[in-house]
Amino acid sequence: MPCCTKCQKEESLYYRAYSGEYLCKKCFLRSIESKAAKTISKYSMIEYGDKVAVGVSGGKDSLSLLYVLKMLFDQHPNNGNELVAVTIDEGIKGYRDESLQIVKDFCAQLNIESKVLSYQSLFGIDMDQAMVQRSSQKISSCSMCGTFRRRAIDIAAETVEADIVATAHNMDDQLQTFIINLLAGDVERIGWIYPEPVQYTQTGMKKVKPFVEIYEYEIAFYALQRDIPFQSEECPYMNESIRTDLREFFNRLERDHPGIKYNAYRSMTKISKVLRSSMPPSQPNKCSICARVSTGDVCSVCRTLSIL
Ligand code: SF4
Ligand code: ZN
Repeated sequence: MPCCTKCQKEESLYYRAYSGEYLCKKCFLRSIESKAAKTISKYSMIEYGDKVAVGVSGGKDSLSLLYVLKMLFDQHPNNGNELVAVTIDEGIKGYRDESLQIVKDFCAQLNIESKVLSYQSLFGIDMDQAMVQRSSQKISSCSMCGTFRRRAIDIAAETVEADIVATAHNMDDQLQTFIINLLAGDVERIGWIYPEPVQYTQTGMKKVKPFVEIYEYEIAFYALQRDIPFQSEECPYMNESIRTDLREFFNRLERDHPGIKYNAYRSMTKISKVLRSSMPPSQPNKCSICARVSTGDVCSVCRTLSIL
């Protein structure tokens, strides 16, 4: 491999096709960390003194996010930010157990507090049971699971009195969400994709995604280069999601046309910004069953539980 384009000293180990740069290990790692730091500042994601709850699944993205935030917070100790890892146990036999251990060990290594909550303890049902009970219903595994996970992370973050929930969604995730909303005719939801955080629960907590401008495969490479241990096992219920098809579609396009994902992301951000600014101020209702904030009379969690 040629010499690193950035430092002009070390031999490169990574070719960034979309920018034409060759990067050595040090410059590659730094590029990811500084991209996350710039994204946080560009969208005012985290303020001084904020306690940040990071949703950590045990996969490469969330453990890398935990590592990067820990590093950034340690570089600026006077900012008074705190970090806590929150992990949700969906109750998927043979899949979740390994990752719970990985998260526990990694948090101990980084000296970060961690909190685990399960679907079973919060909703009285786990994913394995939900998959059996939903047999006659037309609801996909990931849409049930995503609905439960969002609520579970909110509750976990409230329990640890966090100001911010940070999740490791990357650029690929955002593009998939954009297309899914488009295909489903959910145009209003596209406004929610814009990375600037909005306060979203009773407690005024905000949700941020510091990796939103980074390619998924670069985060995977980052985790490998930093020797971050992550779960490689895939969820047995994963393939029901249209996300899998969209991921393959975008990866194929990117292979043939480097940079196309980034261009699509930029267009998507512009569209979501316009839609966000045209959204009427939200008039949150309370769910008539669980009393949490909801857009309708019954929230999505209670609706999902009622059809199981
Ligand atoms: Fe849940 Fe789908 Fe993720 Fe499996 S792949 S953990 S079902 S959201
Ligand atoms: Zn409810």
